[in-house]
Amino acid sequence: MVVALPHAIRDDLDAYKTALAQYDRAAKHLSDVDDGVLMFMKYPRREFTVNFPVRRDNGTMEMFTGYRVHHNTALGPTKGGLRFSLGVTLDEVRALAMWMTWKCALVNIPYGGAKGGVVVDPRTLSQRELENLTRRYATELVPLISPQMDIPAPDMGTNPQVMAWIMDTYSMTVGYSVPAIVTGKPIGIGGSHGRTQATGRGVIVIMEAALAKHNLTNPADIRIAIQGFGNVGSNAALYAEELGYKVVAVSDVEGGIYNPNGLDIKGVINHMHNTGTAVGYLDAEPVGNSALLELPCDVLIPAALEGQITEKNAEEIQAKFIIEGANGPTTPEADDILNERGVFIVPDILANAGGVIVSYFEWVQDLQAFFWDETEVFNRLVRIMGDAFERTYATATDKQVDMRTAAQITAIKRVADVITTRGFYP
Ligand code: GLU
Repeated sequence: MVVALPHAIRDDLDAYKTALAQYDRAAKHLSDVDDGVLMFMKYPRREFTVNFPVRRDNGTMEMFTGYRVHHNTALGPTKGGLRFSLGVTLDEVRALAMWMTWKCALVNIPYGGAKGGVVVDPRTLSQRELENLTRRYATELVPLISPQMDIPAPDMGTNPQVMAWIMDTYSMTVGYSVPAIVTGKPIGIGGSHGRTQATGRGVIVIMEAALAKHNLTNPADIRIAIQGFGNVGSNAALYAEELGYKVVAVSDVEGGIYNPNGLDIKGVINHMHNTGTAVGYLDAEPVGNSALLELPCDVLIPAALEGQITEKNAEEIQAKFIIEGANGPTTPEADDILNERGVFIVPDILANAGGVIVSYFEWVQDLQAFFWDETEVFNRLVRIMGDAFERTYATATDKQVDMRTAAQITAIKRVADVITTRGFYP
């Protein structure tokens, strides 16, 4: 049953509009779910906006705006990353929080969805300014976060050091150390082995499952193009190379590089450490960020921003598989074109769930103060992702729908069942 967009929420902005359109497509297949429950799940539960000052190194004060949205809390505490980027808007944070709800529900981990962000380009701040901004924002978040209520993590523009400052700020406020307040921390303060690599590795685990369904089992025959070379893109590239796949193109904000015979990923990473960008790497030709999406390849991994694959370029994409490392990289219009063309898309909430799965492991380890080795983390990650892929594939086959709709149906149904069982209060 499709329900109308709630009046209180604008639908003229992009990411949230995409999230709601995807929801409506899945909701059509959920005629057994009460209309009221379907409407309830469209609303973010809480939205928090904060404006706060940070003193720059030159002595001047600057104002910054930050957000945190808790989308749905039925399954447990909310979980989701913090983004530091100039592109952050309340609309984007809402969409990302909603996707976190479906992601956690799909892979069966006991969390609701949340997301946060600060409108800032972290590259324009000194380390001290970044620390001050993070600590002030974390202080503002104190009433909203706790290991039982909401657990932030890294996302675009944030990293383990930022998580360490948040953990310290929260711990100083309550008076004792609370490692489980954030995930994606450095290992020495309660982080988990494998967390940094988890999202990128998980993307490749899912890619292999998708290829296997199409009897493509020889890595050396598969050419992969990756848009975005941050934490997700670079770890996906490294793991793909380790398994013998040919990574033919990668890109970052400055642009991309292409070598049809395969790039040496460790070489590209070295070049990046030295120069700050993949661009200029010698053994490759330059390619623009949008041209990368249209290169000849078998697998395309968008691992950057939302809204990259649209009705404008969907016809030009040559890949037969799209594995979404980013959240929301494909618009619903592009989905229609690509599905029509028979491109196999594994959606974000399945393909990039490795990050939040290992975040869950980190939280569990912190709560128990009992830590696992990397092999245990990785084996458990592969088991959960493999299981989620098989369940989604079975739903897609059974209901004759694409993988995104199948994943959303499964996730929405799980949350709906929990809401229905718990009942509405009062
Ligand atoms: N930011 C990541 C995501 O979009 C990870 C969230 C987490 O680990 O809580 O899935």
